[in-house]
Formats: sequence, C-alpha cells, structure tokens
Amino acid sequence: MSDLLALCDEIAACQRCDLAKGRLKTVPGEGAARPDILFIGEAPGWHENQQGRPFVGPAGHLLDELLASIGLQRRDVYIANVVKCRPPNNRDPLPVEIDSCAPFLDRQIALLQPKLIVTLGRFSMATFFPGESIGKIHGRPARKGDIVVLPMYHPAAALHQPSLRKVIEEDMKVIPRILASIVSAPLPELHNDPTQLSLF
Ligand code: URA
Repeated sequence: MSDLLALCDEIAACQRCDLAKGRLKTVPGEGAARPDILFIGEAPGWHENQQGRPFVGPAGHLLDELLASIGLQRRDVYIANVVKCRPPNNRDPLPVEIDSCAPFLDRQIALLQPKLIVTLGRFSMATFFPGESIGKIHGRPARKGDIVVLPMYHPAAALHQPSLRKVIEEDMKVIPRILASIVSAPLPELHNDPTQLSLF
C-alpha cells in the first residue's frame, strides 16, 4: 500500500507533459490495494479534476450502477485512467500525453496485480489491443501475459448513445464468469480465437 501511495505522490508532482499546466488536481486512481479487478478509463473530466478522484461525474455514476449490478462497490475494485490529468475541454488525450503517463499505469498494474483488467473506452482498449476496434472486441476477454483483459465501451458512450447502455450492461455481466473461469480454465492467448467465447 505504501508503494501505491508513493506512486500517487509521484503522479501529483508530475510535470512530464503540458497537461500539468492546466490541471487543478491529478487523478491517480483509487480503490482496493489488492483488487481482483482494475478498471481503466480514459482521462479525468471536469468533476475529477476538481476532486482528484476518478469517475465521480455522470459517467462515474453509471459506473457505480454497473458495479452494483454485479454486486460490487468501488472499494472492491481499483479505478484508474490512462492519463492522470484532465485534457483541456475534455478533448481526446494526445499520443504524447498517453506516452508520458504510460509508465504510471504500468507501475499501477505491477503493484495492484489484478486478475482482470477492464478497459473502458477506446484509448484504454488501445493500450492492450492497438489497432483494434471497440465495436468488434468489446465484451470479449483475452489473456495478456498473466492478466485477462476485458474491453468495454466507456460509460460516457452510453450516456451519449442510449442504445449502448444495454451493450455495456451485458458486457458487465461477463465479469463474474471471467473471474470464476480464471481459476478453473485458462483463456487462450489469441484474442480473436472464437473458441474463447465458449468458455462463458
Ligand atoms: N472518464 C474517464 O475516462 N475517467 C474518469 O475518471 C472520468 C470520466
């Protein structure tokens, strides 16, 4: 836990990219110190920049509901972002900003050692599945080294596009089955192997 806190302090002092100039607070992430699940979003928005906490705005309220739908609370998981500072006007994070922040995310993953990473949105997905399309691979878990990664749409997408809400709700329901299967049946390495779907 102290390593995690030290990392949060390091993030708070970070000046690696220009996002440091416009931020009010860094948003390192929060949650359980040894979580089964690490959720990774895109970047802090207005609310997160004010509070220094991830997913505390409208998208966060939906994430809370989605967690509750599978019997979880925020404190049961860890929630982080690809980029730890708010991009101005909530624009997409730039490649240089993502690259500058990547070592922080790598260290968070190493310290937290989650069994499952759930990526929220395409920037988070691209960290693990570069060049993939979220429309194609959402809801389909794949093993990346020691960790299983489940790509999901970003909750904000469901707020802007109500038809996606059902999709996100359905993808969320896969999580308990994945966690159970991680112990009993290893997933194939190859993401596009359709046989993996039969595991669930
Ligand atoms: N969207 C994100 O991707 N992350 C947050 O922390 C909040 C909204």
